[in-house]
Amino acid sequence: MAWNRRAFLTATAVGALAAAPSAAADAPRPLPPDVPRPRHPHQDGGRRRTLAPGQDPFAVIVGCVDSRVPPELVFDQGLGDLLCIRTAGEVLDEAVLGSVQYGVQELGIPLVLVLGHERCGAVAATLDHLRTGARVPGHLELLVAEIAPAARRTRAAPGDWAEHAMRAHTAWVRDAIRADPAFAPAHIAAARFDLDTGLVSLLP
Ligand SMILES: [Zn+2]
Repeated sequence: MAWNRRAFLTATAVGALAAAPSAAADAPRPLPPDVPRPRHPHQDGGRRRTLAPGQDPFAVIVGCVDSRVPPELVFDQGLGDLLCIRTAGEVLDEAVLGSVQYGVQELGIPLVLVLGHERCGAVAATLDHLRTGARVPGHLELLVAEIAPAARRTRAAPGDWAEHAMRAHTAWVRDAIRADPAFAPAHIAAARFDLDTGLVSLLP
């Protein structure tokens, strides 16, 4: 089966991947190993001029600010393809939710994908805070406060606490967006980006 990154997002939009039985979905489901090389589409002047009158992106990505996880590169997309909203640890606030609403309601985008990633610095800072009790400086306090509930829930789980916390937090962000009737027209999913392999896996 031929797969590419747009196909992954499109399949997510129609629920083809998300429809797997949840009981068997404890582990993320990776793309097949024959993921093609990046094509870097839609990045030339012609594409820019085509889009000048208006945009019609096909997915909203709520992701982390981490410099290693730019959604357009992760999914091999270009100008006008993705509406990207990025905060450290993909933490939600009113500005993020307003931006998602703009994408779903004003632009009619059918898919919202919350994209977490391994070795997230915001998650690591949260775990450090919970381990040491050290005060979190300045504006970082909001980030830690938002990620801490998922970190506390997963603290006793065997294995990699940071990985468990990231997955739980990413899924929580997805569920919070799902719970808002403003986003009901869209399919809302969560995924994990693997820094080592470049693969994106849907989260259960
Ligand atoms: Zn991150």
